[in-house]
Parts: sequence; C-alpha cells; structure tokens
Amino acid sequence: MLDLTGIPVSGGSGVGRALLYEESPDVRAAAAMPPKDVDAEVRRLHEAAEQASGDLGSLHDSLAASRDAIAQIFFAHRAMLTDFLPQLEATIREGASAEHAVQTVMHAAAAKISRVSDPVLSLRAKDVLDIGRRLSRALSGASGDGLPDDQPDGPVVVVARDLSPTQAVQLRGRNVAAIALEQGGHTGHAAVIIKSLEIPCVMGVRGLTEAASPGQMIWVEGSAGRVVIEPDAAAMERAVELGLRYERLEASLLEESDLPAETIDGHRATLLANIEYPFDVDAGMERGAEGVGLYRTEFLYQAGGTLPTEDEHLAAYRDALGRLDGGRLTIRTYDFGADKESPLAPAEPEPNPALGVRSLRWCFEHPDEFLLQLRAILRVAAEGDVRIMLPMVAGLEELRRAKALIDEAAAQLAAAGTNHEPRPPVGVMIEIPAAAVMADVLAREVDFFSVGTNDLIQYNLAVDRLNPRMEPFFRPTHPSLLRLLQTTIEGARAAGIPVSMCGEMGGQSIYAVLLLGMGLREFSLTPTYIPRVRRLLRSLTLIEARRIAADCLRLGTAGEIEARLRERVTPIGAG
Ligand code: PEP
Ligand code: MG
Repeated sequence: MLDLTGIPVSGGSGVGRALLYEESPDVRAAAAMPPKDVDAEVRRLHEAAEQASGDLGSLHDSLAASRDAIAQIFFAHRAMLTDFLPQLEATIREGASAEHAVQTVMHAAAAKISRVSDPVLSLRAKDVLDIGRRLSRALSGASGDGLPDDQPDGPVVVVARDLSPTQAVQLRGRNVAAIALEQGGHTGHAAVIIKSLEIPCVMGVRGLTEAASPGQMIWVEGSAGRVVIEPDAAAMERAVELGLRYERLEASLLEESDLPAETIDGHRATLLANIEYPFDVDAGMERGAEGVGLYRTEFLYQAGGTLPTEDEHLAAYRDALGRLDGGRLTIRTYDFGADKESPLAPAEPEPNPALGVRSLRWCFEHPDEFLLQLRAILRVAAEGDVRIMLPMVAGLEELRRAKALIDEAAAQLAAAGTNHEPRPPVGVMIEIPAAAVMADVLAREVDFFSVGTNDLIQYNLAVDRLNPRMEPFFRPTHPSLLRLLQTTIEGARAAGIPVSMCGEMGGQSIYAVLLLGMGLREFSLTPTYIPRVRRLLRSLTLIEARRIAADCLRLGTAGEIEARLRERVTPIGAG
C-alpha cells in the first residue's frame, strides 16, 4: 500500500482499477521515418484528419444538448485542425512523415502562441497540442482521445500526468470512480469540468505516474487530497465505508435545499453559486442558490478558443439569467492572465504573469474587447438583476478608469439606440491586499464587495496558487488574512454596502462559521459546497459564531486558528 497526497480538487471517495493514460510510444518511434511515397503520405494525413474531425463532430453532438459551452471546444478544435492542414501537407512534401509533420508543426505552433498577438491565431497552446495528439493517434490507427479503449470491467480510477479539458469531458459515462493527476491545481480548466461532473479528484500528486501500474486498485479520497495505491484490507474497508457515507450525506444534504441558510437565532445568510458556464446555474439552483455571485466569463473564451463576439457574450449571459428564476447574476469582467490563459498575449512572455498584465490590466490594454464585453453586460442588465464585478482592483484609480469605460459602453449603446441598463450595480473583488487595506475608501464608490480569497491569499502570503509545492503555505486561517477580511468587512459596513466572499475559502464549512462570526452574510460557492455550508450555518447561533471568531482572532498563527476552529466547530463531511 502506498499513500500519496495531493491537492483536493473534487470531493467524494472513489475506488477502482487504475486506468493509466499516457502517450503511445509507437507514435514517437514512427515519427522520424521519412515517407517513401509522398502522395500516399499526404493521403494518410487527410484520412487521419477526416477521422479526427469526425470524432470531434460526434463529441460536439453528444454534448451539444446539455453542455453547449463545453461542446464548443470540439467545434473550435475541428476548425483549428482544418486550419493546420495546408501547413502539415507542405511539411510532408518537404520530406517529413505525417507523424513527424504533426509533431513539429503542432509543437512549433504551440510554442509560438504565447508570442502571437493576432486574435484569430491566439489559440491556446494546450488546445493545439491536444489536436496534435488526436491527429497522431488517428495516424497510428487509434481513435478517440487517447483514453485507453481496453477499460477494465467495473469502476476505474483515471491516472495521468495531466488531462486536457476535452479528455476530462469524455470521462462522463465511462464508469470513472475517481481521477488522480500528477499535475494541475483546482483552478485549471480541466479541474472546473471535473468538479462539474462531480467525479472525486486529486491533482498535483507527486510521483503518481511512476508509482501506479495499469489495473492496480486505487482509492482516491477527493476531499482529503489522498491517493492510495493498492490499499490494504483495512483501507479498502474504509474506502467503501467513506464512499457510502459520502453518498448518504450528499442525498440528505440535497433534501435541505429549500431551507434558508439561517442560524438558530434567526440571522440569515445568502448563498450564491460560482459558475463558469451558464449550465452551472442548474447545479446551483438544485442546491438552493439564490443567484450567482461570480460568473467567471473567461471560460467563454476558453470554451471557444477565440474571443467571443458581443452577441456570443449576450447569448451566454441570457442563458445564465434565464436559468436563474429571477435570481441575481453577478458577471465578473474578463480575468485573463496568470492562472487563466490569456488571449492576445504580449510579444514577450511575462516574467511574473501573476503580477503582470492580468484581469483589469488586460482589459485596459485591450479596451475594445473590454467595451464589447461591457456592452453585452449592459444589454442583459436591462432584462434582470445583473451586476458587474471588476477583478484585480488595487485602488480607486483602476476603479474609476473601469467605471469610465462602463459609461463609455453605455454611451455607445445609447448612440446606437440599443436597449440597455446604463447603471447596473458595480462591485469590486477584494483580492489584492491593497484593496482590502483601502476598503473604506473603495466602498464609497462601489455598490458591493466580493472577497476573492484564492488570489487574496496568494498575494498576501506570496504563495503561488498554482504551485502544488506551495500548498502547505496557502493558509486561509493566516491571522494576517483575517485582519484583511476584518478591514474589508468594516469598510463595507461603514459605507453601507454588502460584502460577500466568492473565494474557495467560503466553501469550507468551518471557515464559513468563522466568516459569519466576523460579519460576512453572503457566500458565493462552487455549487457542490452550498449544502454543507447551509447545514452548518443552520446548526448554530450567530452569538456562538461571533464568540468563535473573537476567540480565533486573538490567536497568532494559522495553525492555532485552524486547531481552535476544529475544536469548536464540527465540519459537515470533510470540510
Ligand atoms: C479568487 O481569486 O478568490 C476568485 C474567486 O477568483 P478566481 O479564482 O477566478 O481568480
Ligand atoms: Mg481571483
């Protein structure tokens, strides 16, 4: 038995036989051989492209009905595949084998992408490599997405170095009990899809692919970030027991979806959903969300591979709003860069993308794209409770500049006679320590705050949120973070504006108690976290939560606060 740990990405417990995903060595071996008959080689390329294109079409069709935004990925890949064909053919005519052409052309294109500033070509490197892999597999006579066809009977645990979003989507319906990956983190695109598929998953597991062999029994405890290879009898028993317990807990939590998130002494909190795609609204509504507190609109680009048009923005926002049954829709403007791949990347790669042209800074460099998005938001704001949320605001200057652009977008719509709401509520994310420190000043010029702890912790503690080795230093209970939260809550209170939290911290039920005690009344959560937070908030009084918070705020280290919280609050399930 080998016990490994990684980053908890998607909760639950799953056991099954290891299904290893790795690149086929045959493809690499064949690559260097020059072709004997160039025309025949070009025909092979076209046949493989046709097969790959057919596969992409079927994948699109199988998903189009329910998950339209993800389905777009496959259409975008098909278009990209066609675009690459002339270059691939030319490389074969210069003497390369089809395999070699695919490898060199696609790798070179992927490597160049970060330096290309043409919007049509600014497709993501991972997508290009994904298409290259698909073509290579088709050339080797294999079909599909490189996920092994000879899947063992019964539930499997997918083990891989990394998964592309398209591979992640295809795990649906394949009897996948869990996923364990050597790379990745909880904010990646594949992670978001896996969470929405509700498959237990741990990422960033060092040494995993070396240690695991096909067919081995593997247990993944998603919420604990634990991967056990060849669990012994006692661990297997525990795995099965935890799986059953998790299922029972989920079922009982879902039954409470209609109940308010209200403390025993009658103080109500508002639970909202974080979404990446419009259809994610459904998962939130099923769990009793009162609206959307964070719509990560970058995924519109990531699903399609190109920047969306104004009408595409509008269609997605309308789709989300339509599913909300009158609930609020908080649309965060583009948060490209750093952990979220960025279109129209600058000519020179940035030395520190997390401290570079990301979010609002990207929008200021690309005002036309920003205005286009703002126009779509203002248009949909005429149709319901829609709010604009600005990410990565450090102070008043960016805020005022962004608000001026909102006014400009409204003026453009007015000039064109297009129906819109010129002044929907505008809020800022508090995710740079400077913004938390300046909260009282910022609060006078916005309608709401939403605390983004994923970045606030990263920037406050100087820990890269994407680096699995930094995970032990990524401490939501660090007293300095709690002080920043206090300052934020006080600043909001003084100006009379609401403050919510949309970072992952709020999703862990024990932290929600601490935050409630500190004065937070709105939580925007990954939909699957909503029921746990509701149940825990309903189990105590506000007075108790305040006492717990006051007790924690007196302590000097993250470890002490964490321990004190766990002493005083029993989490629902794993967190
Ligand atoms: C955050 O930073 O906490 C947040 C909610 O935004 P994102 O994870 O999309 O950066
Ligand atoms: Mg953020």
